[in-house]
Amino acid sequence: MKKVKTWMKISDVLSDFQDKINTSLGRETSSEWNKRVLKEYCVYLRGLSVQGLPEILNEIQDTWNSGLYQDFVWAFGERKMESRPLTFEELAHNKLSTLAATNLPSTGFNTLMSGKTDLNLFRAMGPMIEAIYHLNSGRAFNWEDMLNLAFSDLETRLIFALNRFDEVKEVPEPTAEFFQKLKETSMTSEQTKNLEEKIGLVLIHIEGEIFGMGFENSVEDYWPTMSLFIQFLAACSAVQHNREEIVNEDIIRAYRTFFKLIKTDVTQYKADPELVRDMDEDNPDYEDVIVCKNCGSYYKLEPGESVDDFESCHCGGELKQVHDERT
Ligand SMILES: [Zn+2]
Repeated sequence: MKKVKTWMKISDVLSDFQDKINTSLGRETSSEWNKRVLKEYCVYLRGLSVQGLPEILNEIQDTWNSGLYQDFVWAFGERKMESRPLTFEELAHNKLSTLAATNLPSTGFNTLMSGKTDLNLFRAMGPMIEAIYHLNSGRAFNWEDMLNLAFSDLETRLIFALNRFDEVKEVPEPTAEFFQKLKETSMTSEQTKNLEEKIGLVLIHIEGEIFGMGFENSVEDYWPTMSLFIQFLAACSAVQHNREEIVNEDIIRAYRTFFKLIKTDVTQYKADPELVRDMDEDNPDYEDVIVCKNCGSYYKLEPGESVDDFESCHCGGELKQVHDERT
């Protein structure tokens, strides 16, 4: 994500500079440039024959015209909490995040450039869902909101059903095998990379239209997080089709999911009462916890015990201390 920010900074300086030259030459200003380039990308994309793409472009236009896209990006920047954060021990109750953390590689800051399906991609889901939750609740997250965000089945629904996340009757159990497959996915086709990049550019120029050019007023981290989220959903779509290669269809399905999601009141997805039964805002749970890399089960350590006292999980999987993976 660092690289993208630097790029924005550079383009910021460049567009200021360009502005001065162009104004002096009587040519277009950066905001005229933004409008023109946005239009060019839209025309270019309309000319591609990719199934489902016209619908995505209409969806982008509609959400922008209605003001929903702007509200959503604002909500992303405005989201905050008024309760304590969850502890690592509490978060270990979430099997899906535990399996992601123990099975996906962590690339550090260069995910957007690496083209790998790593933990950063998985973790882009959280802030995007938080923004939609905030858009609908209109308040800082209280304790109940925090529990809903961390322990509802929405993320699992998205991963397994994508744009049909709201139609799933029985949400499948997350498995290590799924994340092992996810890790192997990548986008290598130039055609698909181009599609993903151009739709992303349309959205970044719309952000320019909404918040002003030069990105100085844009919501920090929104665009890189959104890009990671799309890549993540596209990778999930590839796994669902038993492919390692991410293709055009996966990008389209990822955007379809994204636009359906921002029109959904996600506050209806409540925390699983079983998982949060013992969690108390006033009494944080600071017990040490170990988790299984294979099935995502968690065990609380008694005082004086360590991960070395356990040979393996009941499923035979390797056990890890939670602190290792989440800091
Ligand atoms: Zn296990």
